[in-house]
Amino acid sequence: MSDQSSIPYDAVIVGAGFSGMYMLYNLRRLGLRAIVIETADDVGGTWYWNRYPGARCDVESMEYSYSFDEDLQQEWEWTERYSAQPEILEYADHVADRFDLRRDIRFGTRVTRAWWDGDSGGWVLETDAGENFRGHYCIMALGCLSVPRRPDFPGLDSFRGPWYHTGRWPHEPVDFSGLDVGIIGTGSSAIQSIPQIAGEARHLTVFQRTPNFAVPAWNRPLDADEVRAIKKNYAAFREGARWSHSGYNCDDAVGPGLEVSDNLRKSEMERRWQHGGFTILSTFDDVNTSMEVNRLFVDFAHDNIRRRVDDPETARLLSPTDHPFGTKRLCVDIDYFETYNRKNVTLVDISDDPIGRITPTGLVTEGGRTFDVDALVFATGFDAMTGPLLGIDIRGSEDLSLRDKWEAGPRTYLGLTVAGFPNMFTITGPQSPSVLTNMMSAIEQHVEWITDCLTWMRHHDLDRIEATEDEEDAWVEHTIAVGDETLYPLANSWYVGANIPGKPRVFTPYVGGFDTYRRICDRVAGDGYRTFDLGRIEPRP
Ligand code: FAD
Ligand code: NAP
Repeated sequence: MSDQSSIPYDAVIVGAGFSGMYMLYNLRRLGLRAIVIETADDVGGTWYWNRYPGARCDVESMEYSYSFDEDLQQEWEWTERYSAQPEILEYADHVADRFDLRRDIRFGTRVTRAWWDGDSGGWVLETDAGENFRGHYCIMALGCLSVPRRPDFPGLDSFRGPWYHTGRWPHEPVDFSGLDVGIIGTGSSAIQSIPQIAGEARHLTVFQRTPNFAVPAWNRPLDADEVRAIKKNYAAFREGARWSHSGYNCDDAVGPGLEVSDNLRKSEMERRWQHGGFTILSTFDDVNTSMEVNRLFVDFAHDNIRRRVDDPETARLLSPTDHPFGTKRLCVDIDYFETYNRKNVTLVDISDDPIGRITPTGLVTEGGRTFDVDALVFATGFDAMTGPLLGIDIRGSEDLSLRDKWEAGPRTYLGLTVAGFPNMFTITGPQSPSVLTNMMSAIEQHVEWITDCLTWMRHHDLDRIEATEDEEDAWVEHTIAVGDETLYPLANSWYVGANIPGKPRVFTPYVGGFDTYRRICDRVAGDGYRTFDLGRIEPRP
């Protein structure tokens, strides 16, 4: 057991996904001494852990990638419109090699506790190996979707076959051929993996509690000409994403949904559906604020499901009716609905008869329906956004516990800082746009904001920054008010914590727009961070 506390780092970063990697790169360029602590054995975060069959991005690859280095973006070649997990992980690996990042990353190590040490004016981070790391700044790059959630069904220990969680997929290949497989969940991870598993297994049983909306990806190999066209003006393309509503380039809305002509309304919805991906969400200005307009998309999606699924009853069960379109993270599918036309796939509706327990040979519902399977897949999601932060026992000034402070829901200033927790930053933290955007854009914006802030502080001979209670209260109120103007809070989604029993129901991401949010953050910086409590740490006598 070694104690690193005698090595005073300027910053300790937790997490070596795309956030932590870029943060390390930037701090090094500032000449700061930084270390990254990472549970996994290598870089990549999400793309290290989520190796399930069919895993790929739902934001186009030309956008779902770093923009900070012109040579990197020119030289890297994506092969598909939406890259698959192995290629994205290869990209993370390439970035780590290219910028020699690994030498400052401690892998295989989980941070369990972190506390502000007022006496020395820095953070101490304790790991599961019992080591302490001391840093002047603490930067949490933990990800929003890095704590997988497996329901505590009784009996799992008795199950005789193998079981997997999509968010902790093994590194070795998993072979389902010849097996009867059961999958629990129909969110994005399930929607991507179901067609793949169905193609391999003898039989696949899908246990669905709530259906989800999915738009077609129309994935395809990237065309050399389109790549050349983007790369020719990559800087401008990226600038478009930086100042967009959701962090990626997409067509503007054609107007309010009920004010455009019938022809334009229909043709525009169809055009965007045929384009694929998230562009459908911005068809009209009010898709997410008007129930009447939203209903058009619900009907459109239901029609699409009926066209794609042969059995009318299965199509009905697959059609969401409990939440407005787009108010849960929209899934982007490849052959998902058609998969239910296969003879070896069965959809089991468990909305009124939930899973009761796992048995040695499968599972049984509360109503007594029994299902035998050889292998089980949990595609049951994550304790999102707050889960990774609250997984660490974080203590600020006066031993203030983050878990206590957030008992009724997260409280942050800009989703970047927390009052009572000096010199701590949260990349894509709660109450920032994060999961409502192309997260690469959100990550770069936060990392660059933090970098600029630390640079400015150094130039002004300051080394302590903390959110004030007043600004934090105002930001929390603002994020909730902006959320309440939309239909988002109506859905029982992980955006509101509904997937975790006992979690306070709070709409957590900032939905005011990535462009608006960037302007707010820029204004705070431009005003000399006056909205923060700034100072110098005086060593105690
Ligand atoms: P992560 O990639 O989650 O990395 C955080 C790292 O922190 C992890 O490696 C974790 O092990 C580590 N960590 C956490 N807690 C600790 C601790 N206590 N101690 C030490 N280490 C710790 N977003 C998009 O915009 N587009 C997409 O297409 C997209 N697809 C996704 C697909 C899947 C399957 C999932 C789960 C998410 C997807 N996301 C997508 C969101 C995705 O999480 C982000 O795009 C991005 O990868 C997040 O990077 P990050 O570095 O912030 O977090
Ligand atoms: P998710 O969206 O939370 O879906 C979890 C699924 O498991 C839901 O269908 C849920 O049903 C079901 N479930 C949970 N507990 C259950 C229980 N006790 N009994 C029965 N069913 C249960 O999780 P995810 O699919 O892993 O996706 C999470 C997020 O990660 C996505 O929204 C997205 O942001 C990101 N992601 C992106 C991609 C991509 O396309 N690039 C792929 C995967 C993930 P209920 O809805 O009824 O709760």
